[in-house]
Amino acid sequence: MDRGTVFKRCLSSRCPQCGEGELFEAYSKLWESCAACELRYRREHGAMTGAMYLSAVITEVLAAALCVALFLFTDWSVKTGLMVGIPLVVAFAIMSYPKMIALWVAVEYWTDLKNGEAWVKPR
Ligand SMILES: [Zn+2]
Repeated sequence: MDRGTVFKRCLSSRCPQCGEGELFEAYSKLWESCAACELRYRREHGAMTGAMYLSAVITEVLAAALCVALFLFTDWSVKTGLMVGIPLVVAFAIMSYPKMIALWVAVEYWTDLKNGEAWVKPR
């Protein structure tokens, strides 16, 4: 199994191992494990901290890029820029969080696959 398959499956909200089971039971709530192959998505307490860091970093990069774009391409006041920029950044953070969780599941699965962990059985 290649890295592209693992990440593509997760970004499609599917299990990285089999590609059949769904990742989420609600908007950003992972199932405990895959319904098809029983891969545990969250193996330890705090496993989703990586997803939160990933989301924070990507959102901060977006916010910085937005600040630069507003400064360079508009003649808006700081107040107007904040009134437009803050809701955009908050909306991005909320809307992208499930994808960040899915990406983190892919990162963990890929790492486990490369480390030859016993519970990883690619299909
Ligand atoms: Zn599965």
